[in-house]
Amino acid sequence: SKFVHILGVPFIKATRREFIEKLQQRIAQNDKTFVVTANPEIVMHSLQDPAYKKILDKANYITADGIGIVKAAGLIGDSLPERVSGYDMMLDLLVLANEKHQRIFFLGAAEPVLQETVRLVKERYPNVIVAGQQNGFFDWEDPELPQRIRQSQADLVFVALGFPRQELWIGGNIDKFDKGVFIGIGGSFDVFSG
Ligand code: UDP
Repeated sequence: SKFVHILGVPFIKATRREFIEKLQQRIAQNDKTFVVTANPEIVMHSLQDPAYKKILDKANYITADGIGIVKAAGLIGDSLPERVSGYDMMLDLLVLANEKHQRIFFLGAAEPVLQETVRLVKERYPNVIVAGQQNGFFDWEDPELPQRIRQSQADLVFVALGFPRQELWIGGNIDKFDKGVFIGIGGSFDVFSG
C-alpha cells in the first residue's frame, strides 16, 4: 500500500525527495493540494477531537513529521522510509521555487519574524516570487485574506500558524482556492529567521 495507517491516520510512504517531486508535479498541473505534516501530538489529538480528524480527512497527503511516527510504523509491522518534516520541506521547496520562479505566499508567525523570513528568502532565493505575506495574528472571519491569497495566484502557501491552527485554517478555507500547495509548517519561520 502507498499508506501506513497509524491510529487511523494515513501516512504517505515516500521519501522526502519522492514527496517533493510529487508536489512539483501537482504545482505544474495547478492541482490544489493540502499537506499535513503530522507528529505524534497530531495523531493523538485526532483521536480526541472528531472535528480535527475531519479536517485531516480533507488533506491530500499526511507526512511523518518526526522519528516517533517512523518508529510507530515499524512497531505495527509496516514501514515509512524516513521522516518528512515541515521545515525540511520548506527548504527543499524554496530551492525548487527559486529554480522554477514559483510564487509563494507566506502566512503566519509574529510580524517581525515574518518580515525577517521574507527578507532572507529574497536574499537567498532571489528568483522566488513573494506572492504575498500575512502575519499569523489576523481575523479568521474576515474574507479579505483568502481573497488576497486567491488573487496572489500562489503556487505554494506556507502556513506557519502552529498546531492545530494551521490545519484548521487550511481545512476551513481550502474550498475557496483553485490552485496552490498549502502546507502547515508550524514554527518554521521562527527557526528560519532565528
Ligand atoms: N502563531 C501564529 N498565530 C497564532 C499563534 C501562533 O502565527 O495565533 C505562530 C507562532 O508565532 C509561531 C508558530 O505559529 O511562529 C508556532 O507556534 P507555537 O509554537 O505556539 O505552535 P506549535 O509549536 O505548537 O505548533
